[in-house]
Amino acid sequence: MEKVKVLIIGSGPAGYTAAIYAARAGLTPVLYTGGQPGGQLTTTNDVENFPGYPEGINGPQMMMDLQKQAERFGTKVSFGLVTSVDFSSYPLKVTIDEKDTLLAETVIVATGASAKYLGIPSEEVYANRGVSACAVCDGYFYRGKEVAVVGAGDSAAEESTYLSKLCTKVHLIVRRDEMRASKIMQQRVINTPNIEIHWNSETDEILGDDNGVTGVRILNNTTGVKKVIPIQGFFLAIGHKPSTDVFKGQLDMDESGYVKVIPGTTKTNVEGVFAVGDVADRVYRQAITAAGSGCMGALDAEKFLAAKEMEVAH
Ligand code: NDP
Repeated sequence: MEKVKVLIIGSGPAGYTAAIYAARAGLTPVLYTGGQPGGQLTTTNDVENFPGYPEGINGPQMMMDLQKQAERFGTKVSFGLVTSVDFSSYPLKVTIDEKDTLLAETVIVATGASAKYLGIPSEEVYANRGVSACAVCDGYFYRGKEVAVVGAGDSAAEESTYLSKLCTKVHLIVRRDEMRASKIMQQRVINTPNIEIHWNSETDEILGDDNGVTGVRILNNTTGVKKVIPIQGFFLAIGHKPSTDVFKGQLDMDESGYVKVIPGTTKTNVEGVFAVGDVADRVYRQAITAAGSGCMGALDAEKFLAAKEMEVAH
């Protein structure tokens, strides 16, 4: 059975940053990419808020650069999906593609999260051409334009308030007659003059042409009336799903499936297992915060290994 010092699961900014740090510490990490090599950023065109790129950078390019940087210092990047783990004994056991089991002294979980989508075909047709699941990432491209946000939780409230500062008007599409968001955030939405709330409304279809989104057709689920709102940007804010199914029963998670870490660290309930990036972050979810926590994960793993070595020496 192959034995590794640091096994990193996931290939977004968190996983690659953990790899860069672990590799530079001489720990020759092994990184498994997962089913979507490069993670969520590979579905983004331009990243303009990652410090160090004054002209912005294309998401897939950034991920290729991060991979190269991790490999340059000796990370072994492998394509494969972790299909099961056994953290009940040490070293930790991780099985890839249901066949190869590795023994790991430390595991850094960086499997990320994915935005939930409505499941209508036009969402895919206009993905990256007007449809986005991240206002902070893409809102800037819609400044001076009219946009819609779907959702009614804190994310929807926060994203519509954020967009209201950039866009001429924000249409908030809420499927019930009330919002789930905290009272203070709802109040902020209601008090913003250029946000219009469409209650009891569902997204029937996103409309567009060769240049991208041109409008959204909404259906009032109490009156049955449909109407078209002209917009150029359509933002989803209906929640995220962390990619943690494989760790169920092994790692402590909150009610939504995010891995719990000891605050201020990346330590999970299992010794030697660390969680970094969006998989353990339901609030910030940015490439830069994921990268920062990836760095923390590598430093925590390094410290853990050093303490283990000391134990063995005595
Ligand atoms: P939530 O799960 O809280 O809310 C999802 C919202 O999307 C709900 O209002 C839900 O409607 C709506 N929704 C779900 N599916 C559909 C659908 N198919 N069509 C239309 N609407 C739909 O997710 P959030 O991302 O908003 O928040 C996740 C967690 O993160 C929460 O705990 C939140 O408090 C926290 N958070 C905190 C922030 C902060 O404090 N600054 C910022 C952002 C998030 P319905 O209500 O009808 O079920």
